Amino acid sequence: MTAAGPIRNIIIVGGGTAGWMAAAACARVLDDGQRRITLIESDEIGTIGVGEATIPPIREFNQRLGINEAEFLAATGGSIKLGIEFVGWGRIGETYLHPFGEAGADFEGVAFHQYWLKHRKGGLEDYFLSAALARKNRFAHPSTAPRSPLGSMAYAYHFDAGRYAAFLRKYAEAHGVTRIEGRITGPEIDSETGFVRAVSLASGQRIEGDFFLDCSGFRSLLLGDALKVGFEDWTHWLPCNRALAVPTERTTPLLPFTRATAKSAGWQWRIPLQHRTGNGIVYSSAHMADSAAEKILLEGLDGKPLDDPRAIRITTGMRQKLWQGNVVALGLAGGFIEPLESTAIHLIQSALTRLFWLFPDRSFSPVLQAQFNRLMRDQYEYIRDFIVLHYHANQRGDSDFWRDMAGMAVPHSLQEKLALWAEGGRLRRFDQDLFAVPSWAAVLLGQNQLPTGHDPLADSMDDTRVLAAMGQIADTYRKISDAAPDHGAELARICAGYPGPVST
Ligand code: FAD
Repeated sequence: MTAAGPIRNIIIVGGGTAGWMAAAACARVLDDGQRRITLIESDEIGTIGVGEATIPPIREFNQRLGINEAEFLAATGGSIKLGIEFVGWGRIGETYLHPFGEAGADFEGVAFHQYWLKHRKGGLEDYFLSAALARKNRFAHPSTAPRSPLGSMAYAYHFDAGRYAAFLRKYAEAHGVTRIEGRITGPEIDSETGFVRAVSLASGQRIEGDFFLDCSGFRSLLLGDALKVGFEDWTHWLPCNRALAVPTERTTPLLPFTRATAKSAGWQWRIPLQHRTGNGIVYSSAHMADSAAEKILLEGLDGKPLDDPRAIRITTGMRQKLWQGNVVALGLAGGFIEPLESTAIHLIQSALTRLFWLFPDRSFSPVLQAQFNRLMRDQYEYIRDFIVLHYHANQRGDSDFWRDMAGMAVPHSLQEKLALWAEGGRLRRFDQDLFAVPSWAAVLLGQNQLPTGHDPLADSMDDTRVLAAMGQIADTYRKISDAAPDHGAELARICAGYPGPVST
């Protein structure tokens, strides 16, 4: 048994987005001058190099580190993301937005979408401020003025993954993190405790630690390879197992949203950055040949490719536990859910938040481990269900892939949610649930999943008053978006005077 006592020596294995987010956050949060934080990464192996769209909580992560937004956007070639546009997911030819933030306002404690279901005045999208801005390619920062409708506006970022890691590296090194370049050849396990004691590098160097954060990507060097924590495979629900990524020249206008376009056996992403556009296709190799996927990807580009498409193998699922002994896996080392709702970077952030809340001493209490594992599993499963919904709720019928997706048996937890939705559009959200009620409503309605009726409590408010309030909300959002500046111009204004990318 390892003697209890404070953790003094944290080793982060891997320097991708997960590794450098962990390094920066540990340097900031655990900054008592008592701990050493070391990050080991291998230039020879490199990083996955994708992962460029985020969701609104990323702003809290950056703020907690004290990062200046303008400096960050300039350094990462970043842009604003107000939501995701889904093309062809319900039926071919249809498009909807999953906008960030609130839909309208809840009246008398009843969710806004219930009033929309009752009155069907316009589209639900008309009641999201972020959608009003996104549809006009505009952006304005949330207002700090009291009771301003712009106050609650939600947004996230697109950024260049390599530049974000470099930006965080600069931050972490400035806050005392030591970086070691080298390829890890083997972890050393204590036969008595089962804990990782040290890792050895190809150079012969041996690095000891108390606590190891496995950020080694799909390799999962410590948690998977060394500690043999198994992988729970969710391919039967999410069969896309290949991706091809290709950057293109920047096009104008600079859209403030990600686009996800359904294809015959998967979907294509488009992520606008200041200096280029990130593109890729995610597909099921059981339904589509690699050559066909590449052709579809290249034909679907709206800018000149800057490179050849790069192939990435993916498997959706998660490790049975993300924390075992003195190892916690973050990022791809812990699991993977395809990037349809840009949730992977968020999962790194939420794992770090939970880890700091449960931060152990060197006894690595099983109680803390169990709590962390439970919380993270809830997060993963909830996100998984949300992604499965997008595939399952399709009426395309144009290929085996989409027919299989529509006909599949979905996870029990999602079945329950869909059954509840069908009964009067009720949506439930618990503490660990990432996507709020408006997000589920936007996707369900965007994909033509109309419930049988609405919550009877929505009948208790006077219809004339409700309709007037709905009209006022849509009108206010229209006016705000008309007055807001163009996204590209506003971004140039925000970034003016800040240095460009951090050298890698
Ligand atoms: P990696 O980037 O793979 O880093 C692993 C690190 O470990 C590297 O530094 C490597 O050198 C090091 N390493 C490995 N083995 C060794 C060794 N033996 N010795 C030393 N070092 C070693 N997420 C989002 O949130 N939004 C998105 O839009 C998004 N899009 C994606 C698209 C695709 C196609 C894929 C596959 C993923 C996407 N993701 C997205 C997920 C996102 O890319 C990852 O969550 C994120 O980049 C974190 O990766 P990582 O740091 O865990 O792994």
